[in-house]
Amino acid sequence: MAPVITKKQILILLGAPGCGKGSQAALLKEKFNIPHISTGDILRENIKNGTPLGLEAKSYMDRGELGPDSLIVDILFDRVAKDDCKRGYILDGFPRTLSQGKILQERLGKDCEILALYFDVSNETILQRILGRLLCKKCNTPYHRTFSPPKTSGKCDLCNSELFRRDDDQEEIALKRLSVYSEQTAPLLDFFNNQNQLRSIPCESTKEEIFTNLITLIPQNK
Ligand code: AMP
Repeated sequence: MAPVITKKQILILLGAPGCGKGSQAALLKEKFNIPHISTGDILRENIKNGTPLGLEAKSYMDRGELGPDSLIVDILFDRVAKDDCKRGYILDGFPRTLSQGKILQERLGKDCEILALYFDVSNETILQRILGRLLCKKCNTPYHRTFSPPKTSGKCDLCNSELFRRDDDQEEIALKRLSVYSEQTAPLLDFFNNQNQLRSIPCESTKEEIFTNLITLIPQNK
């Protein structure tokens, strides 16, 4: 049985694009049986389905820029209002700006415990991870061409669907996303730290070692 997290817990995965948030979120989701909510995945799903939201999202995602706070906040709160989020959830890619962080704090209230987990990794490692990243078209499971290849080339180990490279993982856009991260997202580290809600995880080691460290930071009922 999945270990029970003590209170309704919101795990916020913070770190530069490509730092490994998606891979760790998949492991956390399995261990604690709470949903992994990635605003980027929601936007990509809308692009795939050709919705008006997807059309708009494509324009800023292709430039490596962030979408408007008000829109992304609505998308996020619609998603976390669903039943599967009652016990808690994992946020990946949200909040991305100080203003999103403040709105999250205000709207969650006191019945939730917020823990922001910072994935600390060098820019050099990040670029290697982004440039080799592959994702499953159906279930979004992440792989890496060299560090974490699928068992069968081009196919997801879990659902056998095709793997793809994100358009915004090309080097030029990836560099833009890294600068957007430093300017707009990194200030959230101080924001959560000032409320004693931030924990850091060194992320230069293997996926398994990082996960072992990560779960020691999450309060659980034994
Ligand atoms: P990600 O998959 O988290 O790397 O997000 C991919 C892209 O989606 C980002 O580069 C942004 O354009 C957009 N995006 C995802 N989450 C947010 C957010 N919280 N605020 C603004 N834009 C976002």
